[in-house]
Amino acid sequence: MKEYFQNIWYGLTTVLIGMRVTFKHLFVPAVTIQYPDVKLKLPERERNRLYVNMDDCIGCDQCARACPVDCIAIETVKSIPGEDLGKTSNGKKKALWVTKFDIDIAKCCFCQLCVFPCPTECIYMTDVFEFSEFERDKLVYNFVTLTQSEIEDKKANYAKLEAEKAAQKAANATSVKPAEKEENKQ
Ligand code: SF4
Ligand code: SF4
Repeated sequence: MKEYFQNIWYGLTTVLIGMRVTFKHLFVPAVTIQYPDVKLKLPERERNRLYVNMDDCIGCDQCARACPVDCIAIETVKSIPGEDLGKTSNGKKKALWVTKFDIDIAKCCFCQLCVFPCPTECIYMTDVFEFSEFERDKLVYNFVTLTQSEIEDKKANYAKLEAEKAAQKAANATSVKPAEKEENKQ
């Protein structure tokens, strides 16, 4: 019988000792929050999802070259004479059509090394940190603003210009040859 009451006593005292810390915290302000209903204010220099303002991108590729994990893929096409691509908001003249600008954010390690070299400050970290997806492909962000047909047009225009230049060069070379022959005879 004595042992029976001893076990009850041990049971009660060990529960009370175990709950001592819990009871203490009932009377102090909580340090946790009810996420996602409540969100903490993020620090000023937090690193989260990247964004690219394509209006200011000159296609210089510096961000892609700085990326240590190669998660930025950029392709450009040179503009042809007569095309005016305008200027960026900090006054840089644009000369390249950006036909591909993909960031595979699943690979990104949020080092921010792509942000620093950008001459127009158009690639930057946002405050968006909730962007999980069920499919990995959805984490490849495409920032290009041109449509597929516009991209094809730009490529075709540039290829045509290059072909014309090559034809002109070949024509110049053949027209110079007879004169050179005459010179060689003398
Ligand atoms: S933050 Fe780092 S890893 Fe992510 S895209 Fe920029 S350079 Fe690459
Ligand atoms: S460094 Fe800036 S301007 Fe150059 S390609 Fe990257 S985002 Fe565009």
